[in-house]
Amino acid sequence: MLVWIQHPRPSSRRFLFLDRDGVINVDSSKYIKNWDEVRFYPDALDALRFLRQQSVQGILISNQSVVNRGFTSIETLWDIHDRMLDRIRRAGGDVLAAFYCPHRPDEACACRKPSPRMILYAAGIFSIETAETYLIGDRSSDILAGGDSGCRTVLLERPDSEHPPEGAWAGRQPDERYPSLLEAVTALWKQGKLS
Ligand SMILES: [Mg+2]
Ligand SMILES: [Zn+2]
Repeated sequence: MLVWIQHPRPSSRRFLFLDRDGVINVDSSKYIKNWDEVRFYPDALDALRFLRQQSVQGILISNQSVVNRGFTSIETLWDIHDRMLDRIRRAGGDVLAAFYCPHRPDEACACRKPSPRMILYAAGIFSIETAETYLIGDRSSDILAGGDSGCRTVLLERPDSEHPPEGAWAGRQPDERYPSLLEAVTALWKQGKLS
């Protein structure tokens, strides 16, 4: 597990777990291998600014098997991370921490989603009550990891992305579904679910 933490003691007790690819930036079947391949969803930058305005701390929980598949290096993963953070901050948003799994599925590691390990690890560091916290992701592995960690879950069904097939949930269903990150966070906030 690769871990980046901006503040070990965050300034508020409002947290939101976020998948990265397909949520913040456009995902690719060829993986995100360098900064040139990062395409932000405009609404994601707006959503991260909205979260910061409400003092909700976003925590990235992301599978990045692109590293151990040999398509990019850990150094480049951090370069992508640094530049994404810079872009997010220039748009008025921020991220509290990021947890990346670099492993391939066949390595059978403990951290790769659908394992809840990265979420539980983050929850331990920041003393987060997962039962009061949402995870937003675009795949069934996000919903399984979120559910198994005790979080409430939102499935993002962006119009341009492939949605997980029904039945991919192993008995779990997302608690809510939204077509964009901005709609998800503003709806959750209005309903008092992020405070
Ligand atoms: Mg994703
Ligand atoms: Zn892993």
